[in-house]
Amino acid sequence: MSDIKFEVLRMPPVNTNSLLVSNKKDCVIFDAWGRASDWCTLLDKRGLKLRAIYTTHGHNDHLSAAPELAKHYNIDWFLNMRDEPLVLWGNQILDFWELPHIPSDYTKPKALNAGTIQVLPGVPVQIMETPGHSLGGMVFYFPEQKVLMTGDTIFRDGIGRYDLPGGNTDDLHKSISKLVDRNFPDDTYVVHGHGDDSVIGWLKENNPWFTRKK
Ligand SMILES: [Zn+2]
Repeated sequence: MSDIKFEVLRMPPVNTNSLLVSNKKDCVIFDAWGRASDWCTLLDKRGLKLRAIYTTHGHNDHLSAAPELAKHYNIDWFLNMRDEPLVLWGNQILDFWELPHIPSDYTKPKALNAGTIQVLPGVPVQIMETPGHSLGGMVFYFPEQKVLMTGDTIFRDGIGRYDLPGGNTDDLHKSISKLVDRNFPDDTYVVHGHGDDSVIGWLKENNPWFTRKK
């Protein structure tokens, strides 16, 4: 039996979907939203050792806990460097949620690039660039487990905003076309940046934006 577990977590104050992937006692987080202290409590309670943090894009509602967790556990957190300038700009997002600001001397991310990496034994991840919601948007596909994490590129019933810094509507549609062209299996489980999860087959039938732009 496999010890690999995927869990979608909606950490307080509930807004963004995070993905916790573990293999026995080792784990990685995709989009560390919320307070670092809440993550520490959860990881300690389960006896999990955090190995790294990966980030779909540079908006603070997807990375609010990442720099502090990286510092606390002395691990790397990864972000597409095109989005690095957004990290301090995004403190205004945290005001809305009454979360502490990321300090100007925050633990800097390591560069996240397109390609395939192994995040834990038995967990390869294909990383694709999907600009449009931001310049540095990335999606994560786990081919062994057939799970796709889209960040804010596409949602169950809509698409991401393109009016924020670095956003571009043409790029966003091109990125969505790229996901359509990638032909993920219909039963691929999809974790979106916000809201309910979906399945590729369901998106094809029901999300009018999940088509190739003519
Ligand atoms: Zn966003």
